Amino acid sequence: MDVEFELTAEHVRSGRALLQWSQGDLANNAEVAVSTIADFEKGLRVPIANNLTAIREVLEEGGVRFTPGGSFLSVALFLMSEGNSGELVLQFTDKGAAAVQDVLSVFGEVVEGAVSIAAVQAATPALKKALDDLVATHASTTPPIHRLKKFVSVLIDGEHFLVLPGRPASTTEKLACEELLHRLNHPDETVDTDGVRALFGSLLNRYDMSSPRTDRHTVIRSRTRSERQCRFCGMSKLEGATFDKAAHAIPTALGNDFLKLADECDECNGYFGEVTEPSLIAFLDLQRAFLGIQGRGKNEGRPELNFAEGKIFHDGKRFNIHSKHMSHDAGTDIISVGLGKGSPIVLADVYRALVKIVLAVIDEEELEHLSRTIEWMRYGKHADQVLPAVAAAVVELPPNPSAQIIVYRRKAERSRLPHIIGEFRLGPYLYVFAVPLSDRDSWDLNGFFDDPEFRETFKHYASVTRWTQQDLNSRNKAWLSPQIKLVPRSK
Ligand SMILES: [Zn+2]
Repeated sequence: MDVEFELTAEHVRSGRALLQWSQGDLANNAEVAVSTIADFEKGLRVPIANNLTAIREVLEEGGVRFTPGGSFLSVALFLMSEGNSGELVLQFTDKGAAAVQDVLSVFGEVVEGAVSIAAVQAATPALKKALDDLVATHASTTPPIHRLKKFVSVLIDGEHFLVLPGRPASTTEKLACEELLHRLNHPDETVDTDGVRALFGSLLNRYDMSSPRTDRHTVIRSRTRSERQCRFCGMSKLEGATFDKAAHAIPTALGNDFLKLADECDECNGYFGEVTEPSLIAFLDLQRAFLGIQGRGKNEGRPELNFAEGKIFHDGKRFNIHSKHMSHDAGTDIISVGLGKGSPIVLADVYRALVKIVLAVIDEEELEHLSRTIEWMRYGKHADQVLPAVAAAVVELPPNPSAQIIVYRRKAERSRLPHIIGEFRLGPYLYVFAVPLSDRDSWDLNGFFDDPEFRETFKHYASVTRWTQQDLNSRNKAWLSPQIKLVPRSK
């Protein structure tokens, strides 16, 4: 369903230069013939769509970002000390390839273009000196190096800090990093982790938690390209399924372009894009507009929602509402806005699209327990199943409002706790739902969210003061028709 600009020979050549890959390296990684790359770069022959996608994917996985005008390498490091943390994004064009190597070499090894960075670092005088040298050599082409130097220079000599490939994916991971830093820097102190254990201990005993990286290009792939098999319909490439389109685990309209699923055939991709995802996108339209989340298309892909009697859009700076029906509520400063009929939604399809995100990112082995879930999600079977309510809440706004997914998988074989829980987040909007129809669940999970054992296990949800439970069982088409109340900020 993607409209992507065409990848040119120049993109491929400069992408390789940035990663210091030979044509052979690229051919190996993308599983195409060396001649395919060589001929493309010489302008003799454009690879078939399938191969072109593979070439693009492996370069993107290496960190190369493409724009219609060229390519650049984006390296994101997340720096964390006890007193400070922050993301540092370094961007290099192919003229800066040497700078990439030098910067990364300070924290680890670069061997034949492959980088290994040690996560645990110490702010030794030697490291501080190396960073001074880096600034002198490369700061003119890569200004963020100044920030890197500054981050380290304020640490006391020998203080430990972490260099991570990205922001910690979850609260648990962040807490674990903080605990590690504390232990490294204060080896004599016994660490008080009781607070953390009290909050997450029972959860982590009962569930595995995973959260795919959504801040860099990640391709979920269980087999080699020639042996590809769709995880939803089960068709393989050998049986004639095609895998030419880029399948996003999370719809791009929700602002996440990075997480792709190799194991999704074009037919399933088309089905989700036409049937289930439009309902999820419409369901989240107002939230997208409030946050100004960018997808693709005009107005930088920001949603412009048209209703029968008005419209809502984000211009990149602020949220705008136009309506023919605005009125002051009697005796107050509150303005009520009516917009009339908007996009159509099938609530059951919203649920199916949420579950699809979970099934796209979950370990492949888990799918054998979820065959009925897939039949429901992909083919609309088991429609008589009563779906549990989806719990929704508004929480703190994270720095990156694009969509995130956390998947909880129950460890124990027999339990009343749901087998799989999905936690979907779009900016401050949080949705918690159970994946229905798993053969590892012995009941229909209706009311799971209020079950005492669930509450006891997912203690962190108790810190959210107001949950609403949404019934997404309806299979009828309904229309979004928001009534918005504008409350003036108190002076
Ligand atoms: Zn398929």
